[in-house]
Amino acid sequence: MRYVSTRGRAQPRDFEGVLLAGLAEDGGLFVPESWPVLDAAAWRALRGLPYEELAARLIAPFAEGCLTLEELRSLCRDAYRRFDHAAVVPLVQLDERRFALELFHGPTLAFKDLALQLLGRLFDHVLARRGERITIIGATSGDTGSAAIEACRDRAAVDIVILHPKGRTSAVQRRQMTTVLAENVANIALEGSFDDCQDAVKAMFGDAAFREELHLAAVNSINWARIAAQIPYYAAAALALGAPDRPVAVAVPTGNFGNVLAAYGAMRMGLPIARFIVATNRNDILARFLAANDMSIRPVEASLSPSMDIQVSSNFERLLFELLERDAEATAAVMTAFRSSGRMPVPDSAWRRLRDRFLGFSLDDAGTLEAMRRIRQESGYLSDPHSAIGIAAAAALAPPERAIPVVAAATAHPAKFPEAVKAALGEVPRLPPQLADLFDREERCSVLPNDLAAIKAFVRAHARRRAA
Ligand SMILES: *Cc1c(COP(=O)(O)O)cnc(C)c1O
Repeated sequence: MRYVSTRGRAQPRDFEGVLLAGLAEDGGLFVPESWPVLDAAAWRALRGLPYEELAARLIAPFAEGCLTLEELRSLCRDAYRRFDHAAVVPLVQLDERRFALELFHGPTLAFKDLALQLLGRLFDHVLARRGERITIIGATSGDTGSAAIEACRDRAAVDIVILHPKGRTSAVQRRQMTTVLAENVANIALEGSFDDCQDAVKAMFGDAAFREELHLAAVNSINWARIAAQIPYYAAAALALGAPDRPVAVAVPTGNFGNVLAAYGAMRMGLPIARFIVATNRNDILARFLAANDMSIRPVEASLSPSMDIQVSSNFERLLFELLERDAEATAAVMTAFRSSGRMPVPDSAWRRLRDRFLGFSLDDAGTLEAMRRIRQESGYLSDPHSAIGIAAAAALAPPERAIPVVAAATAHPAKFPEAVKAALGEVPRLPPQLADLFDREERCSVLPNDLAAIKAFVRAHARRRAA
């Protein structure tokens, strides 16, 4: 399988190439040259498989030429072994047509584990083969950092340094990062904001000599391998609910658009997904876009669902490319205009095609708390603020055909957001057993000033220790 850039000016790569490259050199995102398609009989034959086997088989066509099915099986088995539910991604029925797809049974209790646990192992596998190593750097305001650290801990070919703004992540989120005492993991608590952290990471990537010296790599959600690893759980849910012989809809709490894009990928691979409900918080750029073709940037506001506090959803570019019938030049022009004007000029014809299947939804904080209460009352189900927005969206915008079940992605465990759960329900959710002692564990973290030279020296010292 070959991959091309959405902006058409990068050398096509194979799976291993896009895994290691992340962003394309023309600023675009890599997409498969064509979508692998399974016919109905092939889908039916996948029903009832263990999750890791389903994942290996569905990722295999994307990795063709780089990894064998046998290699993928072994990587998937290892990646999903630590999940605390035998089904890996259990589907919980909420009412006659709504289902919560629980994506939070991994080590950090959020859906990013599903992609990142595999990504860390993919890195190790291909780097060992090439005799290379990398240094992963990243900035986090919470979830992504801990999922990346858990994915990379103890990986032989990878060092990881994560920056977070000192004092500005929740205690659970910080401890999920700083209590990982693996040799190859380092945490920086930066005396600054999340934006300062991001700026420092960008500056390090922007320094070509530094990037080369340390083999810098990123694990952010523009990496195609992450999208590929998220397709199988939509397939698992759809198959369980009767696909390919019966359509389903999906509702996805959305930030960077990676998770929705994976659902779209499942549809392109042949699953009958009739509707995509894009659920947002008060940072509702995607909902405004889907309602009125208004993709205009506003300032990001903090909400109860911080992992969705985003204005520019980087993965949207991949869908835009499809909407524009894979015209890379047109995609590049729209993205350039978006960057310069803050408003994305999506042609009306393309927007209308999108509207056939995609619907937007948004809830502010008060609406989110209300949704958490209602879900608890009606179904006895405890949801975190992100998942609650998806579940509420599933009720509001389900397809009119009553028979179509709606799968709402439950993206985080409620115990990750105890304050919001307490505010909504008056109860504090308990951390699952494997994290019950989180607050007793030793932390390791270095406080650094917001000074690029100091940060670089730290990263270099950390990576060099391992290379020696
Ligand atoms: C990252 C995250 C999201 C947003 O996912 P995207 O793929 O960026 O759209 C939603 N909920 C939770 C809990 C997350 O951690």
